[in-house]
Amino acid sequence: MKQILLLTTGGTIASVESEHGLIPGMDSAALLSDVPEISNLCQLTTRAILNLDSSNLQPKDWQIIANEVFASLSDYDGIVITHGTDTMAYTASALFYMLKGLHKPVILTGSQLPMKSPGTDAKKNLIDAIRTAITGRPGIFVVFHSRILDGPKVSKIDSFDFNAYDAVDKSPDLGVIQDGQVLFSSPDFQKPSSSCVLSDQLCNNVVIFQIFPGFSKDFLIQAIDAGVQGIILRGYGSGNVPGKGNSLLPALHYAKEKRIPVILGTQCTYGGCSSTYETGSLALDAGALSAGSLSIEHALVRLMYLLGQTKDYDQICRLWEQY
Ligand code: ASP
Repeated sequence: MKQILLLTTGGTIASVESEHGLIPGMDSAALLSDVPEISNLCQLTTRAILNLDSSNLQPKDWQIIANEVFASLSDYDGIVITHGTDTMAYTASALFYMLKGLHKPVILTGSQLPMKSPGTDAKKNLIDAIRTAITGRPGIFVVFHSRILDGPKVSKIDSFDFNAYDAVDKSPDLGVIQDGQVLFSSPDFQKPSSSCVLSDQLCNNVVIFQIFPGFSKDFLIQAIDAGVQGIILRGYGSGNVPGKGNSLLPALHYAKEKRIPVILGTQCTYGGCSSTYETGSLALDAGALSAGSLSIEHALVRLMYLLGQTKDYDQICRLWEQY
């Protein structure tokens, strides 16, 4: 039987009612008592590493998760992490950068309803995640609502629907779990040739701005003067920002002069950025780096990760394009 490690971190899946609403409160024994069939699928070891609503997760918690996964890789065939849905997409991207050359499956899952709620999606999601881990397919996956998604590509797209995640670059799902069978769309996969390397340094001193009609360049300039080290700018549509009237271009020039990377993304969920319009291409000419088709969560984590490796602006600009 395959050896699977279940790391629990809290989230709705393990939540119970409290005076002020749901809070994580179930230990792994209570969680697993509702899914006894798992004992027929694999040899499961459980470890509680956090007990948080994922809205309370901080980058230091990504480091805890990454270190735990890294330390356990050689002892298990796959690792499942139960996690709150709110920030699962950020954690998936963080693990993508922190665990380079991952050669085993690391599956993030959770649920929209607690394990004990009638009609919950928790049981199915957990069993599906375990089944996916058993396949041995390497990668960081989000398994949710019978779908296997490429973890670093996802955003939470619905606050309540069971179908809560999607790949924002509209790439097809990596697979599906149907009648208890894990079906990957492509049967072939490559195992990394080198061994997994842990790289968990991050810089948290970054900020996301969403522009809106009336947004002032001074917001950016003030953030830079206050010492922020990287900025994500959520422009409109395909990555467009005002270049006339209330233009943001002087702030982008200022950022470049101060060697502060500015990443230009979009406030649209799907479609990403391209320099179709003058309002986008002038921003790139002024020094902004395009987020391309990355989710905003991924772009943020990539920026934090790169700033954690180096403070050299030119190197960050080069590395930004390389990943
Ligand atoms: N607030 C919860 C969390 O992210 C939501 C969930 O898990 O569905 O932990």
